Amino acid sequence: MAQMLSMPAGEFRDPVAFLILVEPRDPATAPSVRVLVAFLRGLGYTCSFIILSQRFTPMQIAANKAVSIDYTLTNDAGEVIDSSAGGAPLVYLHGAGNIIIGLEKALTGKQPGDELDVTIEPEEAYGEYSAELVAVLDRSLFEGVDELEVGMQFHASAPNGGMQIVTIRDIDGDDITVDGNHPLAGQRLNFKVKVVAVRDANPEEIAHGHIHGEGGHHH
Ligand SMILES: [Zn+2]
Repeated sequence: MAQMLSMPAGEFRDPVAFLILVEPRDPATAPSVRVLVAFLRGLGYTCSFIILSQRFTPMQIAANKAVSIDYTLTNDAGEVIDSSAGGAPLVYLHGAGNIIIGLEKALTGKQPGDELDVTIEPEEAYGEYSAELVAVLDRSLFEGVDELEVGMQFHASAPNGGMQIVTIRDIDGDDITVDGNHPLAGQRLNFKVKVVAVRDANPEEIAHGHIHGEGGHHH
């Protein structure tokens, strides 16, 4: 601003109109802009100013931001495992473990419009495949389930007290083989991601560890 005012009069008078772009959130800016606008109008110029929106000062992805992404997930064979294409973007709370750690790391510092291709090793995705999570159970443990089929999933109590999803891998008479590994355990994941939007999460969302509203939890 001061630089403009000190320019030689000859150069200063070349434009026929001024449009001044103002950064938001700068308390010192507004009064000085008003002075400059009044000065330029006094000289007979058409002059107006606009406050730049967030599109011009993009918000970066960091902890406690609500982030919207379009993504496509493929495995190493190039098969699409999951994608937001054709639907709404995925909206998540950054830094709260809502998405796999490797993807959070890759997205930190990015801003709306950024596109990235990222390959994530199993240890930063769904973990290595663990043979210890495979067990053969007797059919009697599934009492109440009418028909057992390969691929069926059940909630089971994990040794740490948490809940775990197990999948039936094999059925051999009364021997039911179940697998507690995540279906994507042991796999390297390839994400193609575009950042759609970033906003501050509100205190309630931060307390809950997930976002609310469109694309988020409703309760
Ligand atoms: Zn909530």
